[in-house]
Amino acid sequence: MASILLTGGAGYIGSHTYVALCEAGHQVTILDDFSNADRSVPQRLQQITGAPVRCLEGSVLDTKFLAGVFAGQRFDAVVHFAARKAVGESVEKPLDYIETNCQGLITLLRAMEQAGVFRLVFSSSATVYGIPDETPTPETAPRRAMNPYGFTKIAGEGILEQLGQNDPRWAFGTLRYFNPAGAHSSALIGEDPSDIPNNLMPFIARVATGDLPELAVFGDDYDTPDGTGVRDYIHVEDLAHGHVLSLQALLRENESHLVNLGTGRGYSVLEMLAAYSRACGRDLPYRIAPRRAGDVPVYCAIPDKARALLGFQARRDLDDMCRSSWNWISGPHAAGKSG
Ligand code: UDP
Repeated sequence: MASILLTGGAGYIGSHTYVALCEAGHQVTILDDFSNADRSVPQRLQQITGAPVRCLEGSVLDTKFLAGVFAGQRFDAVVHFAARKAVGESVEKPLDYIETNCQGLITLLRAMEQAGVFRLVFSSSATVYGIPDETPTPETAPRRAMNPYGFTKIAGEGILEQLGQNDPRWAFGTLRYFNPAGAHSSALIGEDPSDIPNNLMPFIARVATGDLPELAVFGDDYDTPDGTGVRDYIHVEDLAHGHVLSLQALLRENESHLVNLGTGRGYSVLEMLAAYSRACGRDLPYRIAPRRAGDVPVYCAIPDKARALLGFQARRDLDDMCRSSWNWISGPHAAGKSG
């Protein structure tokens, strides 16, 4: 059993990772500033795990707060989710993104160093590949920033690489997520942005609930089987499990790794819509709209390295993703319904 600090642990992937880490027997403390997480999440996590949730409210940009966090408790490692993640917003507020995602990382690393904690799992993203030359894409593909968000993930990876290569005390698990989807099987936690969703799955979910009239399919003239964009969707519970494996590898081997977390299988927008329609029991309305600026035709992982290094393999399929998302969004706990 290890003692883990989970920054951003009240967010979408963070909260699922909290459950997975607890189930693996670890003792977890959440740190979150609740800038993009519902305040009821810790209570729901308590319902899922059946145990009190330790949750500290504050920002990874706050040096004093972080010093207090590390002074108050001995941690074996940090799993770091606390960051901004909306591509469009990053174009409007690049400095906010650079501040939270890069300066926040550095402030955290400094606090860790001072406390003598040298293992960290880092949330990266397939977005670091920009428009990849090869799909499916291996970890060796070059990194290219398409927007400020992508830049902050490339910068974060670079910072960790420099530290890892030059200071042997550090070891990092860098995880490049493809497209997380779905919700926890309990339907107590999931993804439910407070404004109109940018991402496909939460948008379709809102069409399914009737809150939004139809899905706009951004382009049907890509060089893909049905002309719509293809992504490697991975169930958020599988993704959460990937963090447990990454952490355990770090604690066991004290050696850095960088891996894709995906399934290796891509689905188009229309395939996603059809799968969700099956899950919610009705054909969901859509219209074909122009391409979205900056969109990549296909993102798909070569997942072999995570399997070889961590023993990671996604087990849940597209129907599991859609069913769990629908159970969550149509249940009593999604935002706006819990009172
Ligand atoms: N997409 C769409 N309509 C939407 C949102 C997304 O057609 O309202 C498409 C988008 O063009 C892409 C895929 O769905 O091909 C996944 O988009 P998302 O924003 O979820 O992920 P990302 O583009 O960041 O991989």
